[in-house]
Amino acid sequence: MSRRSERIALMAESPGTEQFLTVFRYGNPENRPKVYLQAALHADEIPGMLVLHHLCAMLDAAEDRGDIAGDITVVPSANPIGLAQHVAGRHLGRYDLPSGINFNRGYADLTDKVADRVGNDLCDDVQANTAMIRAALDQALAEIMPTSAFAQLQHTLLRLASGADIALDLHCDYEALNYFFLGGKLWPAAADLAADLGAEAVLLAVSSGGEPFDEALSVPWAMLADRFPDKPIPQACLSATLELRGMSDVDDGVARSDAENLYRFLQRRGVIAGDPGPLPAPKCDATPLEAADSLKAPAGGLLVYHKRIGDHVETDEVVAEIVDPLAGDPATARTPVTSRATGRFYSRCRDKLIRPGECVGNVAGTEPLAHRSGDLIED
Ligand SMILES: [Zn+2]
Repeated sequence: MSRRSERIALMAESPGTEQFLTVFRYGNPENRPKVYLQAALHADEIPGMLVLHHLCAMLDAAEDRGDIAGDITVVPSANPIGLAQHVAGRHLGRYDLPSGINFNRGYADLTDKVADRVGNDLCDDVQANTAMIRAALDQALAEIMPTSAFAQLQHTLLRLASGADIALDLHCDYEALNYFFLGGKLWPAAADLAADLGAEAVLLAVSSGGEPFDEALSVPWAMLADRFPDKPIPQACLSATLELRGMSDVDDGVARSDAENLYRFLQRRGVIAGDPGPLPAPKCDATPLEAADSLKAPAGGLLVYHKRIGDHVETDEVVAEIVDPLAGDPATARTPVTSRATGRFYSRCRDKLIRPGECVGNVAGTEPLAHRSGDLIED
């Protein structure tokens, strides 16, 4: 087997402890397209790890056949810190427990640093600008000196992905369809990704708030293009957060099929040799993230759904009810939760005891919603 493995140690948080990232590399680092794939940055989101397990077997075979034309880096388990967080028998992988910070927030936006560095040198040659911006992004990252294991993890993952033409961050929701978050300027160029992977919702935002990993790779290109409109600046990194259904959707058959779809997409983009076959028909149109209603619980209680994942929902339709089991009169025990969007009900909670203000689920509408401002993603 000719994949190359690398082990990157994280700084020890306590004496006598050790954590490290495992990185697999395929192809030739001098070649493009350059692809970066990672899973389980939220360490309790397991489906992506199984998908990359299957994909790596396919990439091993492709490497042995000499079929890898580009450069592929795979981090099948991107968060050893979160993977080790067990508390009272439960695995907690979404937040860094010492700081309480979400593992997929706060990835440095390097736009200003890059603009300062290249602003005066940008020219009319798109390839020269692309190379210049990539080098400036690398340099800006190299100047960051992380001071904790968590910060080092974030920094290391960004450095591994820096310069990629395609960077896919594999996550999942609680209970959900197969859907994506994607930079607004990356559509419709990324329509083949959505079609090959069978995405059932594609949610577009240049910047959703919260600075997730994928946006640290795509936002600088979008912002620089806005800042220097008279210079040709491409959207040179197709980065996306792929939500591979729900947390319990960990299934060999589904994961193998997802891996085959990813493999075909990489063939279609010239990363791997071979005929990917015709592009499948898309399962959805992309919609603005501002049009996706995030349904908030108006009260605390027991959560019962009236809609299943994938159902079509109309504006003002009741999606769920919250039941107060202590209500004196059972007739007054139920508080409805309604949608403010018309579209597909694409994700919902797994836990059925809910607090006021917590997200009950999401509906992918098509028209931007007035109440959707500020941060567009849940923490
Ligand atoms: Zn996640």
